[in-house]
Amino acid sequence: MHRKITTGFVVQTYEKINGQYVCIDQQFVAGDGVDYEDSDGGHLVDGFDIDSDQEVYQPFDMKDPSKICSERGLVFTCPSCQGHRLECCEDGSYTSEVVNIDEEGDFDFGDIHASGTVDRFQCLECGFVIEAGERGPIVTTNERVVLWILENCEQPKEYMTTAELLKKKLEE
Ligand SMILES: [Zn+2]
Repeated sequence: MHRKITTGFVVQTYEKINGQYVCIDQQFVAGDGVDYEDSDGGHLVDGFDIDSDQEVYQPFDMKDPSKICSERGLVFTCPSCQGHRLECCEDGSYTSEVVNIDEEGDFDFGDIHASGTVDRFQCLECGFVIEAGERGPIVTTNERVVLWILENCEQPKEYMTTAELLKKKLEE
């Protein structure tokens, strides 16, 4: 076993949404040089300790941080707390596999299976519930949520195609 190491830099792209700068994209740029080390951190020399010609090519493909709301998707902005996380609440029971329990005692859950019907969509941070209008009925369908977000939440310019495609789809 050995490790291949490069240094590079991270470029974050910000856009102003409702007076706040929100990171909408992050790119990792790997450097040109690489170092090799063994499992104890000892320096390995290519062509002597190891032969990098035998390496199966693997790009330095850094994982993107989780995007706000969804990958390049529509951005929900809570009118109450300016948060960007939306949750769907159902009235029935939920089941979810416990995938892992870490050394802190924290649980990782797998896919959630819900047996009820949608009760409401709300801001994950403050509990603001999406309603069709001022004191209107609570929104419970995906289509209505899309409509509400299109009407009420400013979208980053890069995401406008998502908004436009959804608008078109709703008009059909
Ligand atoms: Zn909120």
